[in-house]
Amino acid sequence: MSRMSPGVMAQTACDWLAEQREAMTECLKTLVNIDSNSYDKAGTDAVADVIVEWLEADGIAVSRTPRPEAGDILEAKLPGTGGDAASGHVLLMGHRDTVFPTGTVAERGYTQRGDLAYGPGVADMKSGLVLNVFVLRALTRLDPLPFPVHALFTADEEIGSRDGTAFIREAAAGARAVLNAEPGRISGNVVTARKGGAALLIEVEGRAAHSGVSHADGASAIEALARKIVKLHALTDYASGVTTNVGLIEGGVSRNTVAPMAKAQLDTRFVTNEQRSELLARIEAIVAEEEIPGTRATVRQTSGFLPMEPAMSEALFARYQAQAEKLGFSVDGEFTGGCSDAGTTASMGIPTLCGTGPVGAKMHTDDEYCRLETFVPRAQAVAATILDLARDSRT
Ligand SMILES: [Zn+2]
Repeated sequence: MSRMSPGVMAQTACDWLAEQREAMTECLKTLVNIDSNSYDKAGTDAVADVIVEWLEADGIAVSRTPRPEAGDILEAKLPGTGGDAASGHVLLMGHRDTVFPTGTVAERGYTQRGDLAYGPGVADMKSGLVLNVFVLRALTRLDPLPFPVHALFTADEEIGSRDGTAFIREAAAGARAVLNAEPGRISGNVVTARKGGAALLIEVEGRAAHSGVSHADGASAIEALARKIVKLHALTDYASGVTTNVGLIEGGVSRNTVAPMAKAQLDTRFVTNEQRSELLARIEAIVAEEEIPGTRATVRQTSGFLPMEPAMSEALFARYQAQAEKLGFSVDGEFTGGCSDAGTTASMGIPTLCGTGPVGAKMHTDDEYCRLETFVPRAQAVAATILDLARDSRT
């Protein structure tokens, strides 16, 4: 077989995808109608079963890593035997879990009204999973692919990818680009920058004493925490995009006891990794200060996402935008304060684009929807962008 030029390859993939709208919609219905809350291993694994079946039916190899606590990890790999294989693969990413409790499907499963599809996780991100599956299926029709294309399907993004992050790092290592199929914005835009976030637990220990009989013997953990909270909140700087929020506090044992313990959960957001390091250092210093003699405080991170810095998406986005234009739709890049797995790969220094899934809105609510008419063009844009990445090393 003679080698296709990248342009012919993109055309071949896009032509195939153009015929898949109904098949994609059917697949979306199937995935939405499987409950797959992050803590529902049976559910996220059932979604995996279906994805494996679809890919294997088209001759695509999928490896499955069983996970005892979280949902299994799936990784599909299209081998790339073209001349460009040495400069790394492209990784498509997506998460199979949703925020909706098991039983939601029985209450309100997949429905469709005209161009809009509804149901738990329909946009975030069952539609993105389907898009990635069909992009792989389109690319497997090209022979030889100029370089390998992999797709990772994780199962715990909505609870901070505690299990998934290590697999993401491993799958992304050496990649030339990562495309994460979170839902496209309501504007039709993709996501070119995201804040990072860290969830921190602060625990303060004091000394109990009867507040009437021996007040002076006590050391109030609540007072120590209160003083820290004021300082922690003062770290917020809207201009630079850094925010801190103590959203939950607890402490004390009774009104008339000087509090021996207090706890706070602190949410932090930042735009760059440099801000992250600086912020965490300042938080540690505030926690370490002994404002009330006899109290002692510790802080630890309970979950977090690294930021997706705009510089890591710039060139890849320009490529995607050019391909979208050729396909007849205009798209821009957008910044969001929400975190995702894209921050993990962007922080590894890998060009990363997020929000490449079909357009969706009202994520994490009962009104969540996906715009079905964006399925085909956005799948085509991802496929064309991937193939366009082959051109660099040919010049
Ligand atoms: Zn998501």
